Amino acid sequence: MRTCNILSIAGSDPSGGAGIQADLKTFSALGGYGMSVVTALTAQSTVGVTGVQGVPPEFVTRQLDTLLTDAQVDAVKIGMLVDAGVIGAVVKALDAYDPPHVVVDPVMVAKSGDRLLAPEAIAAVRTDLLPRADLVTPNLPEAAELLGENERRDLSSMREQAERLLELGAKRVLLKGGHLSGQSSTDLLVTPDGLTETFSAERIPTRNTHGTGCTLSSAIAALLPQRRSFSEAVRDAKDYLTEALRHADELDAGRGKGPVHH
Ligand code: PLP
Repeated sequence: MRTCNILSIAGSDPSGGAGIQADLKTFSALGGYGMSVVTALTAQSTVGVTGVQGVPPEFVTRQLDTLLTDAQVDAVKIGMLVDAGVIGAVVKALDAYDPPHVVVDPVMVAKSGDRLLAPEAIAAVRTDLLPRADLVTPNLPEAAELLGENERRDLSSMREQAERLLELGAKRVLLKGGHLSGQSSTDLLVTPDGLTETFSAERIPTRNTHGTGCTLSSAIAALLPQRRSFSEAVRDAKDYLTEALRHADELDAGRGKGPVHH
């Protein structure tokens, strides 16, 4: 059987824990062949982000056109998009090439508190990108930003929030409950046909959680073409993330909050 080509459209993280670097490691670990279109450079370590340099939108378009006129991709993970110009370039390519299994991780702010998306670009994610997503994977702060409301941190409002996110046009929403407290971390998958499914995993006690969002969305993208259903892909992706968290403390990648172990 041909190995699946999985494309990451995302930003670079030199510390190797998040962004393009995390995505490519995840794709490989899960049996995919990783490809990448870089949207932004960050100067970053486990301590934080000291700079962001977006790639000019025309050059994002050039990367996408050059790659997608040659290779067939089996799934796409979209991460850090930096600004509205880059979002426009990615949207244009999605329309032109119509790749399968588009997973959008609406990256906005790093755990260190540094912004990875210009605030004025959130509207473009909402109106232009979400309607082109087969799955969007916001955490609770990102969901609140997309819905234009204050963040809520309770499991009972998650279903209602996920349904309102669906109304923004994504085919499916995986609303991640990692920011809630508790022994387990529960995510909620909702689809327009009214199906709702919860995915729970043991909460691993580690401070080294850099790159969890990138890893989960990449794992889902890598597994969608290799599993029989969305739920199976999400379940297995969450298991992969739990193992990456379980082994995070074996790494010594810097003095700050370290990455999960791919
Ligand atoms: N750097 C890049 C390039 C990213 O894409 C992301 C998250 O998506 C981060 C940093 C932040 O990762 P975290 O919030 O897990 O620390």
